Amino acid sequence: METKTMISFDEGLKKILEFAIPQGTERANLSHALNRTLAEDVFSDISMPPFNKSAMDGYACRKSDIKNALQVIEEIQAGSIPIKIIGENQCARIMTGAMVPEGADWVIMKEHIEEVGPNQVLCVRESLSSNICYLGEDVKAGDMVIRKGDVISPAHIAILASVGCVNPLVCNLPTVAIFSTGDELVEPGEIPGMSKIRNSNSYQLMAQAQQMGISPEYLGIVPDHEILLKEVLKSALEKYDVILISGGVSVGDFDFVPKILKQLDVNIRVHGMDVKPGKHLLFGEQGGHFVFGLPGNPVSSFVQFEVLVKPFVRAMMGKTTDDTFLYLPLEVDYIRKKNDQLFFVPVTLTANGTVVPMEYHGSAHIHAYTMAHGIMEIPQGVLTISKGDIACVRPL
Ligand code: AMP
Ligand code: MG
Repeated sequence: METKTMISFDEGLKKILEFAIPQGTERANLSHALNRTLAEDVFSDISMPPFNKSAMDGYACRKSDIKNALQVIEEIQAGSIPIKIIGENQCARIMTGAMVPEGADWVIMKEHIEEVGPNQVLCVRESLSSNICYLGEDVKAGDMVIRKGDVISPAHIAILASVGCVNPLVCNLPTVAIFSTGDELVEPGEIPGMSKIRNSNSYQLMAQAQQMGISPEYLGIVPDHEILLKEVLKSALEKYDVILISGGVSVGDFDFVPKILKQLDVNIRVHGMDVKPGKHLLFGEQGGHFVFGLPGNPVSSFVQFEVLVKPFVRAMMGKTTDDTFLYLPLEVDYIRKKNDQLFFVPVTLTANGTVVPMEYHGSAHIHAYTMAHGIMEIPQGVLTISKGDIACVRPL
């Protein structure tokens, strides 16, 4: 049997990321730009707010007059232009979002007013601030509002809309195909016969890819059969940028993926890392097409997608952001039997900001992850983490 050289997870990740190549750019419509990476800086064509704007429904007046009875001389709706200038002891009834009229430097909230005569009001309670949003206080015309490399979130969408950038330049998405190998697999809609199990990995991987903004293609279940596997892989390599294969990458007699990839002249760059779950992970490349062989156990494929495939695909999407980690104290002592691998453990977070390792039975126990808030990393060489010590958690 061929012996595999184990490398550390960090070495594996570094090696894999060296191959990630952004995919060019295109213009995306604002309504389909969520999760895409901006490929250009975006500047504002207007100031925000574009005029001194009332933050409240109320009465616009001079601050120096707020102790006096005020004569209402105009009503200003949002979207209309004030006609009159506010003079001494005068005010305009004003709506939220309307232009503050010339002469006024204060808005008294409607709730703080008493009517004291026909078209006459008196302020009965003073606010601490003017209730005016000032011209350009958020953004000035010409300001850069979003940077190239930012991932478009719902807040970014709001800004793009506000500055009229309806077709932002974004990085292209890689095409991703997913399939599972295994003679024991049936589709989730079937009742598994004796010795069979449902294919959960393909759907889980598709969901993980979709969460990133990718629309993956599902290629089905491929039996543990060399010729069939070769056929599917060969055509997938011609068609897709990234292929995610579940199962068939470890050392069993029917784990044909590495052998077939070699036959297809795929360069295997990583096969095996000192990591649990996911020790047998495989990464190969061939002329700008990339293959991840994810071990079939559901937690292995789930975790390895989060920690390895995700950063790779993100880089292919042009994203420059790194993974986020939380550094929080452990709620209880954590002890493991062996320390030769980096270990990923499902954890929950408490309201006190502490980390609780979950009951976890190993790499088939995907159900544990339905309740997990994050993945805790126990580094190679570490056997115990004591209660109160800081744990590194990747939020889910
Ligand atoms: P393998 O990596 O092919 O040796 O599979 C390891 C374990 O994961 C076996 O117990 C398989 O039955 C299970 N497994 C493989 N593929 C899947 C899948 N697509 N969905 C759920 N479990 C799987
Ligand atoms: Mg298998």
